[in-house]
Amino acid sequence: MKNVSHSCPNYTQYNNNSGWNNLLPSYKSKDALTDNIESDVLIIGAGFTGIAAAKRWEQISKNDRIVIIDASTAGESNSGRNSGFLLEISLANDADPDDILRMKECNSLISETMRTIQDEIKNSPINSQLNRTGVYRAAVSEIGIKSLNNYSKFLKSSGLDYEHLDRNQLEEKLGTRLYKEGLYNPHCYLAQPAALIRSLVGALSEKIELYENTPAISLQRKRSKWLIKTPKSIIKTNKIIIANNAFCSKLGFAESYISTIYTYAALTKVLNRDIIDSLGSNNNWGILPAHRLGSTLRRTIDGRLMIRSFYDYGKERDNNEISKMLAQKLIRRFPKLKKIDFDSVWGGTTGFTYNGGPIWGEFSKNLFISAGCNGGGIVKGTLFGKLLADLANNKKTPDINKLFGKASWMPPEPIRKIGFKMISMIERNKAKAEI
Ligand SMILES: Cc1cc2nc3c(=O)[nH]c(=O)nc-3n(C[C@H](O)[C@H](O)[C@H](O)COP(=O)(O)OP(=O)(O)OC[C@H]3O[C@@H](n4cnc5c(N)ncnc54)[C@H](O)[C@@H]3O)c2cc1C
Repeated sequence: MKNVSHSCPNYTQYNNNSGWNNLLPSYKSKDALTDNIESDVLIIGAGFTGIAAAKRWEQISKNDRIVIIDASTAGESNSGRNSGFLLEISLANDADPDDILRMKECNSLISETMRTIQDEIKNSPINSQLNRTGVYRAAVSEIGIKSLNNYSKFLKSSGLDYEHLDRNQLEEKLGTRLYKEGLYNPHCYLAQPAALIRSLVGALSEKIELYENTPAISLQRKRSKWLIKTPKSIIKTNKIIIANNAFCSKLGFAESYISTIYTYAALTKVLNRDIIDSLGSNNNWGILPAHRLGSTLRRTIDGRLMIRSFYDYGKERDNNEISKMLAQKLIRRFPKLKKIDFDSVWGGTTGFTYNGGPIWGEFSKNLFISAGCNGGGIVKGTLFGKLLADLANNKKTPDINKLFGKASWMPPEPIRKIGFKMISMIERNKAKAEI
C-alpha cells in the first residue's frame, strides 16, 4: 500500500482563555502522551464530535483500545469557547421549508442526539446549566425579516410551535428595542459550554484513554496501519477518526473543502441590579441573528450579558480591538450600559465550508473525518461523531450527505481568501444592521 504523509504546521491556539472556562474551578488536565503506543482507533480531537465518537465506539467494540488525543484541554478548546446554544431541531441556515420530509428526518436525528447529551451529563458533578430556554431569532432590517419569514415557514411546515413578536414584545422579554421583529421557539437549550464539555469528558469510561496537550503533528500510512506523530510519541493505530473540525485541513485532509474562520465572544461582569432589572422579564435568554453575519446574544442566569460577533479568515485578530468592537455592538442594543466592563473576551474557530455542508465519511482507507461545523456543531457534531463511529465499524448509518449536504469544493489560495473577503464584505454591507 502507498505511504501517505501529511504534516501539520499548526493546531488550535488562541490569544485569550475561554471566558466560560474562566468562570469554572481550575481544571486538572489529563496527562500528555509521552510513550509510543498502539491502539485500535485513534481519535484526534476531544470536542463534542470526538467524545461522541469515542463513546459510541466503546458501545460497539467493547474490547478495542480507544485513544483520544487533544491539542488543548477540556473547556479551553473550541467546544468550551462557543455561545452554548443547543438546538434540538435544524439550524436556521440548514432549514429548507420546501424539503420538509428531509428536514423532519434531520430534526428527529438532532432531537434524539439532544436527549443523549442530557442523558450523558445527568449524573455529572459539574453543573452545565443546561436549560430548555427556547431561542429568540430577531431582525433589525428587511434582510433579517426576510430570513425570519423563511424560518417561520420552515417551523410551520414542520409542525413546530413558535411565536411571532413585535418590537414592544421583544423589549418586554429582552430589554432591547433594537429589533423590529422576532420569532421565539422553544426548541433550544442554553448551556455553559465549558462546563458542558468538561461534564462530557468527565463521563468518559475509564477504558477510553484521553491525552490532553497532545497535538497530532503528522499522519502517515504504513502498510495497513496509520502512524501519528505527536511532540513526544508515535501512535500506531488501525483506524483514525479526525474530529478536529476547523483544523482538519492543517493535517493535510479536505483542504479543498474547509477553511478556518475565527469568531469572537465576550462576557460582561455580573451587571448591577438596576441594569439587570431593565433587561426584560426573562432572566435566561439567547438571541440568534437573522443573518449569518449578525451578532448572537445571551443573558446568563448569573446576570451577565454575552455577545458573539465578527469573523476573520485564517487568523485571530487582536482581542483588544475586538473588545472595543463587541462593546459597541452591545451598547447599541442596551444603551443603558453606557460603558462596558467585559470580564473576558476571546476568539474561537469554526470550520467553514462554502455551501454549509459537512465533511463526513471515510476519506482514505481506515481514515474517517467529521469536520466543517459552520458555527453550529454542539448537537450536530455529537450526532456526526456517533455516526462516524458506526460507519467505521461497518454499521448502517443514515445517508448524512443526502440529509445534511456535502461540503462543496473551494478554489485554492490565494483566490479562496480573496473570494471570502469579497463575499463577506458584500454580505456585511447588506446585513450591517444585524451585526
Ligand atoms: C464563538 C463561537 C460561538 C459558537 N456558538 C455555537 C453555539 O452556540 N452552538 C453551536 O452548536 N455551535 C457553536 N459554535 C460552534 C461550535 O463550537 C462547534 O461547532 C463545536 O465546538 C464543534 O465541535 P467539534 O468537536 O467538531 O470541534 P471542536 O470543538 O473545534 O473540537 C476540535 C478539537 O480538536 C482539537 N485539535 C485541533 N487540532 C488538533 C490536532 N492537530 N491534534 C489534536 N487535537 C487537535 C482541538 O483542541 C479541539 O478540542 C460556536 C463557535 C464559536 C467559535
